Amino acid sequence: MAEPFDIGGVIVKKFTFMSQIQLDVRGDRDVLTVTDWRELAACRNSDPETFFPVGTTGPAIDMIDKATAICGTCSVQEECLLYALETNQEAGVWGGLPEDDRRRYRKRWLAERRRRRQAS
Ligand code: SF4
Repeated sequence: MAEPFDIGGVIVKKFTFMSQIQLDVRGDRDVLTVTDWRELAACRNSDPETFFPVGTTGPAIDMIDKATAICGTCSVQEECLLYALETNQEAGVWGGLPEDDRRRYRKRWLAERRRRRQAS
């Protein structure tokens, strides 16, 4: 389990890799529950075209750089990347990885997952 982290004074504790995130408001006993990691996505108010540029050359390079910079600030980058890997998202930037990088990473990720399943 990842260490709790702070977003704007709210301590976030991750309990599962995808959707169950519990928020403890600092100094308060209230607990907020976020049921979907997308609610914490740094890109949730961004222009979708930034994350889904057409192609991987020319102007798309600037869009990809902009998208990955936003991903670099995102508190749910790991959840986002795992979702994209699990659901085989082929287009766009997910979890800080553009299409080509994610495709290569997914091959290694699947191989590692197969190896772990065979070992268990
Ligand atoms: S990692 Fe990037 S694409 Fe995924 S939710 Fe965060 S900002 Fe959006």
